[in-house]
Amino acid sequence: MAKLSNSSRIISGLAKYDIHTFRDVIFHLPRRYLDLRYTDEFKMNTNEKVTLKLMVTSAPLLIKGPKVAIIRFTAVSPRGANYKVVAYNQRYILNAIKPNMEITVYGTINLRFLELTVIKLFPRALSEAEQIVPLYSLPSEVGNHEFTRIVQKALKNESVTSRVPLPLRDKNGLISLNDALKRVHNPLDMNDVFDGLKALKYEEGLEYFIKLLLIKRSNSELVNSRKTIVNLKDANEFVKSLPFKLTKDQIKAIREIGYDMNKETLMYRLLQGDVGSGKTVVSFVALYINYLRNAQGVLLAPTESLAKQHYDTLLTFFKDFPLRIELLIGALTPNAKTKLKDDIQKGEVDIIVGTHALFSEDVFYPKLELVVIDEQHKFGVNQRNTLLNKGEKADLLLLSATPIPRTLANVIYGDMDISTIESFPHDGRLVETVITTSPLKNVTSLIDKTLAENRQVYIIAPKISFGDKTNVLVLYERFSARYSNLVTVLHGQLTSEEKDAALLNFKNGLTPILVSTTVVEVGIDVKSAGLMIIYEPHSFGLSSLHQLRGRIGRDGKKATLCLVSDEEDNYKLEEFAKEDNGFKIAELDLTLRGPGELTGEKQSGMPGFLYLNVIKDLSLITKIKEDALEVVNNPANPHYFPLLKLINDSLAKE
Ligand code: ADP
Ligand code: MG
Repeated sequence: MAKLSNSSRIISGLAKYDIHTFRDVIFHLPRRYLDLRYTDEFKMNTNEKVTLKLMVTSAPLLIKGPKVAIIRFTAVSPRGANYKVVAYNQRYILNAIKPNMEITVYGTINLRFLELTVIKLFPRALSEAEQIVPLYSLPSEVGNHEFTRIVQKALKNESVTSRVPLPLRDKNGLISLNDALKRVHNPLDMNDVFDGLKALKYEEGLEYFIKLLLIKRSNSELVNSRKTIVNLKDANEFVKSLPFKLTKDQIKAIREIGYDMNKETLMYRLLQGDVGSGKTVVSFVALYINYLRNAQGVLLAPTESLAKQHYDTLLTFFKDFPLRIELLIGALTPNAKTKLKDDIQKGEVDIIVGTHALFSEDVFYPKLELVVIDEQHKFGVNQRNTLLNKGEKADLLLLSATPIPRTLANVIYGDMDISTIESFPHDGRLVETVITTSPLKNVTSLIDKTLAENRQVYIIAPKISFGDKTNVLVLYERFSARYSNLVTVLHGQLTSEEKDAALLNFKNGLTPILVSTTVVEVGIDVKSAGLMIIYEPHSFGLSSLHQLRGRIGRDGKKATLCLVSDEEDNYKLEEFAKEDNGFKIAELDLTLRGPGELTGEKQSGMPGFLYLNVIKDLSLITKIKEDALEVVNNPANPHYFPLLKLINDSLAKE
């Protein structure tokens, strides 16, 4: 296979974005488009960005300041207006242009002085195809023009086939997937972008909604006729022993879950609520009800550190109850593991906590009837499948930390059963969000103040850092240089012992500053953390930022989230700073996204979609759902059969 590029810099840069093959390249769509279509000179306003075709009328002149090189020249437009053009620190212009040359300038206009400040200059007129420039999100090592060239190579080398059945493609006026990709990467106008995106969105949506229907149907056929009915009042004994009173929403959720568990058909319920709304304890009550029916329960967490934390909390909350609770993780000694598996197989363990790996172990759960999956979006779509052959008789409870308004949830999850916690245990949390730039002095006073209050500080490095300044290890060094032994570091490359040690020292305040990648996003509960500093917040979805924000201020005292951004445009972050309701933020995340501006963040916490926008594409989604139903209801139709088989096969593997 042909190589993406001969440059190892480009190859290793793209690898950071999981782009390895030509196929990866063509599916890496532009983040947005720079519109360089020529502006009507009569419709310009001061300070707007405009694109003008001009004829140079004076040789460029270099004026050097102490820090910047300023270039000035004059140019005339086809309508005869004389512009003063100015460019800062763009020396290439000096040699690129001369009088009587036709050029294109994209820049900011000041009408009072007819002055145009250059953002980009081309020493020629632009053809139609050049006037819409795709902009990609890329690692710092790779330039947009370099990637654009690779895209062109990839479009020639690679071809893809649509899975959408022909009758549905015709009915919805969809172009082929190959054409769609070509138009999205090389649009002549914005209509090309919309037509291309429509085909990509439809493709994505159809598979998703067919999957959902199949999962829902196969689940509604599952029954467990041996289930013992539990009098839900009996759960009160545990509820009363809790160190707090449950909120109304928590009680309602428990009731809904309890009714499901008492039905013959198996439960498949999503419990959603904002970070800190108290989902965990609701799942504990479910586990207690499950214990009352003399069955085993499993609690799955996405990481070992979170599993361990749940285990500790379970032990505390159940300390006066005769349940046996165990943690099954990779760090156990072989002997301890064998013994534990043995006990589980004898039915002697009531609640088992662990990660995904729990089900790849060769262990048999004779009485498994409830599985709780925390942070469900970290696992695949087909949650029941994560249980392999161990949970055919198990009720399933999925906890989601990305709450979405009910109307949207109905769109995304179809008619799955959903319980929602809207209120907080305390009167909301007091987290103030501020935005600042990167010099260290901008954050040190916040840190000093937090340390003086004996509270902890999270410092979050982005998963992918643009440039090396915000790499987790670089940040660790930078903060260690100032706060020496008060700082510890946490990232994916550490062993699980090292991770545990880091977390423990952070929790107990020995090293009250934790520099970390987003592994902390998943539910770590350090009550007295009072400050979180996030680098390159633009690389996160708003819902992820909100989840991170939920990690601080858990002691009910005021806490601060500090977003460190050197970008020019912080509008999204400013809107985010004003809003603290997770449901509204999910909506905000979607509505503030421009056309063709994709998340590119597969794990943003918003379920499923890379291309579809559940708010903006609502009418398309309605059509896709109808078509998905039509496909599922007619499995023998030769047009539908191949797609159904493909999806069924992939569901079996997920
Ligand atoms: P999440 O929904 O994000 O998983 P948790 O379940 O971790 O939230 O709850 C956050 C914190 O609030 C925990 O420390 C939990 O013990 C506490 N909590 C849960 N429910 C209540 C309640 N009704 N009253 C007071 N504190 C509560
Ligand atoms: Mg949680």
